Amino acid sequence: MLEIKVLTLFPDMVRTVLETSILGRAARQGQVSYTVTDIRDFAVDKHRTVDDTPYGGGAGMIMMAPCVVEGVEAVRRDDRSPVVLTSPQGERLDESLALDLLAGAEAHGELILVCGHYKGVDERARELLAMREVSIGDYVLSGGELPALVIIDAIVRRVDGVLHDAASAASDSFTDGRDGGLDCPHYTRPPVYRGLEVPEVLLTGHHAKIDAWRCEEAARRTRERRPDLVGERDRGPETGH
Ligand code: SAH
Repeated sequence: MLEIKVLTLFPDMVRTVLETSILGRAARQGQVSYTVTDIRDFAVDKHRTVDDTPYGGGAGMIMMAPCVVEGVEAVRRDDRSPVVLTSPQGERLDESLALDLLAGAEAHGELILVCGHYKGVDERARELLAMREVSIGDYVLSGGELPALVIIDAIVRRVDGVLHDAASAASDSFTDGRDGGLDCPHYTRPPVYRGLEVPEVLLTGHHAKIDAWRCEEAARRTRERRPDLVGERDRGPETGH
């Protein structure tokens, strides 16, 4: 079972999401387990201080190294286990980074995620723990809780057996099933809504034709919206798939 351990100053914010929907079901089914640890429990003074003003002056508070380092050391089973620091300066998360993080996590049986807050975490915590910095995009959030949850969701849904329908996961955007491109459009009942009809081919029950249509639509969307994702073999005017 994959153990996912989150260190945060706001454990309730993280726990609620981890109990919900597919993330929660994965834990209830025993495929993953979550441990959410309050970094404040590792504060070293009686006021339970976790942050302080920056050396050199300036605005904002910095999370202190000792509580972060000691918190991580207390929860991890193995000092070679991967530790991720959420940071806008990290490697940008995408599906392949999610799979890479999953592989590392499965190799060690655990993945530790540290949520920064305020102005960030004392640089020495990152160095001492050899944390891998991961960003969820080029914008700055007020804390690492949402990024950690994004990273966890991206990883957990790729754990074998978490999604009931493996074929569904394998044809989502950015997966090999879509050649790394976007997914096709989807429809469900009713067949006509406000005058808009479901594409006829989807109602035929002809699976080969339906698959071909989906592949074409997925490839078309990818070319239109994300030409950067179009692989060399799919480029050019004749690209159906
Ligand atoms: N001073 C930092 C930003 C700190 S934001 C800088 O300018 O680079 C506070 C915390 O929120 C960070 O420590 C990080 O844990 C989290 N965070 C903010 N934006 C993020 C993003 N895009 N991806 C991942 N984590 C982020």
